[in-house]
Amino acid sequence: MLKNKVALVTGASRGIGRAIAVELARHGADVIVNYFNDEPRASKVADEIKALGMKSIALKADVSNFDEVSKMFEKIKGEFGKLDILVNNAGITKDRSLKKMAQEEWGKVIETNLGSIYNVTKNALPMMQKDSRIISISSIVGIYGNFGQANYAASKAGIIGFSKSLAKELGRHGITVNVIAPGFIESEMTKDIGFLKKKILTYMIPLKRSGMPEDVANLAAFLASEKSGYITGQVIRVSGGLVI
Ligand code: NAP
Repeated sequence: MLKNKVALVTGASRGIGRAIAVELARHGADVIVNYFNDEPRASKVADEIKALGMKSIALKADVSNFDEVSKMFEKIKGEFGKLDILVNNAGITKDRSLKKMAQEEWGKVIETNLGSIYNVTKNALPMMQKDSRIISISSIVGIYGNFGQANYAASKAGIIGFSKSLAKELGRHGITVNVIAPGFIESEMTKDIGFLKKKILTYMIPLKRSGMPEDVANLAAFLASEKSGYITGQVIRVSGGLVI
């Protein structure tokens, strides 16, 4: 399904990014595994992809830093020569009610989650041709908002506005731009949610379970494929039906 395609997944050393990177490789794509801190885990993901018979490298870059991202793309150009699929996945949280939120906590989340979307997509576009795919990971929090997450919600809502605009700009070039909005997915990002809160959240989910990274990866693989060719500018929830 993705034979001869080259994909970049940001923040792919673990969690949802890792699952997407592996799923794209399973469908035949060569995959660049971007990471920031965790070189050993990112290399392990690249090894996992190579074991599937695909080409892969782990590349370090802080996606909130435009120069680092540009340098990463020089390497991608040298190694792969093109990019067909971009998955903007890297993200962080720094939760606090606005009353207590420091400017640094606001800025860091906006720069990492939303600034990165500009930094990475801007560098990726010159390497993308007709039928390429841009997929960005937002959150249902970007749609509904959430107590203690004004910074995160603003960054994730920003991704939606960015992507809807870009879909209009790139349609004529045959490039689709879509957003995945996951709900409550098991990962390191959510591992510290308390037992009681987890129970309440799960109760609120119509499908009565938290999501797994693979649930998100399955949709990403579909959106990356030619089968999604007439879908652009959309926000698709992978949330078990959760409305917060
Ligand atoms: P995670 O387990 O915490 O993984 C985050 C990934 O992002 C790691 O690979 C990390 O790399 C990378 N990263 C963080 N800052 C980075 C930076 N500045 N530059 C490059 N990479 C960076 O989180 P996750 O749950 O898989 O979340 C993935 C995405 O899904 C995020 O955008 C998140 O907001 C979104 N999401 C998650 C949930 C959920 O319930 N888990 C729900 C909705 C949306 P290193 O380890 O190398 O630093």
